[in-house]
Amino acid sequence: MKPDGAAGLKGDETNSNTQTMPQPRQYRLVLLGAPGVGKGTQAELLAERFGAYHLSTGDLFRAVKMSKDERELTPTMARALEYMNAGKLVPDETVLALVAEHAKDVPRGKGFLLDGFPRTVAQAEALENALEKHHVTLDAVLNYELPLPEIVARLSGRRTCPKCKRVYHIEARPPKREGICDDCGVELFQRDDDRPETIRVRMEAYEKNTAPLTDFYRRKGLLISISAGATPAVTFERTLEALGAVVERQAV
Ligand code: AMP
Repeated sequence: MKPDGAAGLKGDETNSNTQTMPQPRQYRLVLLGAPGVGKGTQAELLAERFGAYHLSTGDLFRAVKMSKDERELTPTMARALEYMNAGKLVPDETVLALVAEHAKDVPRGKGFLLDGFPRTVAQAEALENALEKHHVTLDAVLNYELPLPEIVARLSGRRTCPKCKRVYHIEARPPKREGICDDCGVELFQRDDDRPETIRVRMEAYEKNTAPLTDFYRRKGLLISISAGATPAVTFERTLEALGAVVERQAV
């Protein structure tokens, strides 16, 4: 398969890294990785660079949680948010219904980035069936890797702006004024599921349900593992290099 063309590429093309940058194109990617590896940040950088549609199931659930009064929630969504607050995976059926609802928003022929979905083999199989139906194939599955102690340190220090969603870290990326967003001036919050007691549950859910997905996608020849131990900018460079290799592979 050849690259699709130049539509939708954003970013600074005069950048000194242009040589290593992949050809302009529309990527269809899944981003895998344990909570806290920074795949959400990479997804945002990729979406900005390539103009791709970014679908984060975690963000969708959090948006429902923030925007609705508890009494307005359907019983299914209320249960989903209970799972989320406890650090557990939301049942497949609920996740698949949510994704189906938002899949309609993906512009035809555009690239997309799936962040936090799929999270189980059943979800991956459902995704595969849905893509096949639309004659769409994935280009790659990027698997961000980080040792467990570093993941726990990243998650427990993470703070988020409720308004612009910017993510800080109390040590690695602190705001100028403690606890306050640099851009919005509002108070930062810690996600319920980033509290130490919930992190353990989330990591167990990841090991049990999501780690097997790496084998699933490796067997399909789609998996690319990327070390996420550096800064977001360095990890992004590694991601672009990996995508360059995908383009080369597809062009032969
Ligand atoms: P995230 O921001 O991707 O870490 O997602 C936050 C939480 O949302 C997870 O801990 C789950 O409770 C729920 N969630 C998000 N995506 C999925 C998914 N694909 N399957 C099951 N639960 C999910």
